[in-house]
Amino acid sequence: MAENQSKHKTAIYPGSFDPVTNGHLDILKRAAKLFDKVIVAVGDNRGKKPLFTASERMSMLKSVCKSMKNVEIDSFTGLMIEYAKKKNADAIIRGLRAVSDFDYEFQMALINRKLEGEIETVFIMTAENYVYLNSGIVKEIVGFGGSAKDLVPKEVEDALRRKLR
Ligand code: ADP
Repeated sequence: MAENQSKHKTAIYPGSFDPVTNGHLDILKRAAKLFDKVIVAVGDNRGKKPLFTASERMSMLKSVCKSMKNVEIDSFTGLMIEYAKKKNADAIIRGLRAVSDFDYEFQMALINRKLEGEIETVFIMTAENYVYLNSGIVKEIVGFGGSAKDLVPKEVEDALRRKLR
């Protein structure tokens, strides 16, 4: 136990991040206080049709997280839990906004535990002002010419405008 307590703890924060929002960053900052290292893992899942390529999503994340010293940005394909095992992760971080997230997240956490019992899923509650926020809504707002100020970092809003013009 004592040996385990002194061990360096790593968490994976997986997601699409298409693109990263202030809601994602809120969860990430909270996670970075709890773990020695947090790896933000951009899912490069060919089934989903993202607006930004995995490398575009990663470079936006790298840029907005550069002051967070214990945060790394990476990408993965295939099963997230296999990637987490490969990285020797202790935990998976997921953000919770509302009850509507719960069903899906509960199922994923239990399936992942079945696949790999040693890696815990840790849920972090978002700040109240991001409860309604997701990447999809930001794409819609910017797509219709609205302002995404306070929803995403400035450079992400600029990238969205260029992409959706
Ligand atoms: P996925 O497609 O895997 O859900 P997302 O990029 O949408 O990927 O989200 C990654 C993680 O961040 C998920 O755990 C999601 O619940 C969480 N998340 C997204 N937006 C917010 C937000 N506004 N507040 C808290 N958590 C969030």
